Amino acid sequence: MIQRIDHLGIAVRSLAETVKYYEQALGLKCEHYEEVPSQKVKTAFFDVGGVHIELLEPTSPESTIAQFIEKRGEGIHHIAFASDDITGQLAGAKNAGVKLLHEVPFEGAAGKLVAFLHPKSTYGVLTEFCMPKPGAAAAH
Ligand code: ZN
Repeated sequence: MIQRIDHLGIAVRSLAETVKYYEQALGLKCEHYEEVPSQKVKTAFFDVGGVHIELLEPTSPESTIAQFIEKRGEGIHHIAFASDDITGQLAGAKNAGVKLLHEVPFEGAAGKLVAFLHPKSTYGVLTEFCMPKPGAAAAH
């Protein structure tokens, strides 16, 4: 079951520049940096009342984030819902006719299991499900 919005993913060209904006203009504090080699991105997280903002900077032109920025520019890339059962969540979406980008969850940032729904099936919003990896300490 979906429990809450976990985070919004935002594609940016430069983490350093964007983190400065979030810290100086909005007064938020970056709480966590992490590189995710599987996704070819560097990330920075902000906690906004329990919902996180995940800034994503591509580390390679082959990164899907690099391709997104090239096509659509910087901006909101995805919405992530925390689920208590990511496998069941994917099965439910699939049964409802939604195309999945990942049939099997993989390890994303902050040690979470993540999987994405295809934006063509979700009315234009790239949608992520995430849940803490069983046995992992909750980082967020
Ligand atoms: Zn995400």
